[in-house]
Formats: sequence, C-alpha cells, structure tokens
Amino acid sequence: MPLQLKFVTSAKRHVDLPDAQHEVAFVGRSNVGKSSLINALANQRQLARVSNTPGRTQLLNMFVLPNGGSVVDLPGYGYARVPAKERAGWQRMIEGYLLEREGLELVFVLVDGEIGPTPLDVQMLDWLRANDVPHTVVATKFDKVKSAKRATRKKDLAARAELEPGDIMWVSASKGTGIPELAQHVLMMLTP
Ligand code: GDP
Repeated sequence: MPLQLKFVTSAKRHVDLPDAQHEVAFVGRSNVGKSSLINALANQRQLARVSNTPGRTQLLNMFVLPNGGSVVDLPGYGYARVPAKERAGWQRMIEGYLLEREGLELVFVLVDGEIGPTPLDVQMLDWLRANDVPHTVVATKFDKVKSAKRATRKKDLAARAELEPGDIMWVSASKGTGIPELAQHVLMMLTP
C-alpha cells in the first residue's frame, strides 16, 4: 500500500515545523533520487518535486500520514555551485534538525546505487554515527545496476558505508523495486 502522505509545510528551521510525535527523515546528495523515491512511496507524481535545478528545495519539507506520523524531506546536499555561505546555512539547518528534532525515530540516508557512496555521503554517515542519530541506508536507482554486477555492488556499497550488505535496502523508484518494503518500514517506524 502506498504511504498516504500529505504535504504539511516547509520551513527554514526545524523549530518552525509543527511538533511531531513520530517522525522519519530522508536525506541525501542532490540528484540521488530522493524526490522520485518519496513520490514512489506515496504513489503520487508531484508530491516531492523532481528537479535537477540546484538550490530549488533548500527547505525542510514536512508530510503527515493519516496515523499522525510524519516524514521530513531534508534538502539535498552537495551542489557544487552553491556558495560557501549557503552551504553553511544548509549545514546548520540539517544539523539542527537532526540533533534537536523531538520525535525523530529514524533517518533514511539515500545513496546512489549506481555510483555508490560519495565522500559527502560517507561524511554524513560518519556524522550520524558520531552523534548517535539512528539511521539506515537506502541505495537508489537499483534498475541502473546491471544484474551481473548486483552482488558485487551490494557488497562494495555496504563496505564503503561501513555496514553489512543485508542492512541496506535497495530501491528503484522507476521500476518500483523495494518500494513496498520501504513503505512498510516507514509505517513500522511511525506506528504509535
Ligand atoms: P533528488 O535531487 O534527490 O530529489 O533526485 P530526483 O528524484 O530529482 O532524481 C534525480 C534524477 O535521477 C532524475 O533524473 C530522476 O529521473 C532519476 N532517478 C530517480 N530515481 C531513479 C530510479 O530509481 N531509476 C532511474 N533509472 N533513475 C532515477
């Protein structure tokens, strides 16, 4: 079943978001496929914006489920052409949210399954680990990995993320692979 996500609001600071009982967040490098994934989870085309334009979604976007659980889409990191000042703002926004958000149960860190974790992804994973923020890794664009390469890619990606291959969920927003399983995981985290 698709997640019945409804957009609530966007904010620059987590303190401006409505309170959350139970919440999960999605974070990842820009272009990792985060908007496509959220749209696939909700089975809606336009819920999260799919766009390659840097800097278009530098806000925290909050969605709710009928059971009151919430999902936050964090702005993508790693735009090459974003000025340092803006990057620092991004970091404050994200770190503030991740460290201080009441009700945050789990962070889904998206990593591009085709290219594997970038240095920025590894930095994010190290930071989450160092700060004891509960997180798990979702590898995107599974359809882009040739079937002959899948087993090795799974092992490689897990090693670089310092996880066991079984701890990483693989999804394809285009083909629907792994989407019901991920939706189920989200629901499980958000069930009161
Ligand atoms: P975001 O910047 O992380 O929100 O990424 P988008 O959802 O905008 O996706 C970035 C690009 O990757 C777009 O061109 C998408 O069409 C493409 N993309 C996203 N998910 C998939 C997928 O599962 N498979 C394939 N082949 N392409 C995808």
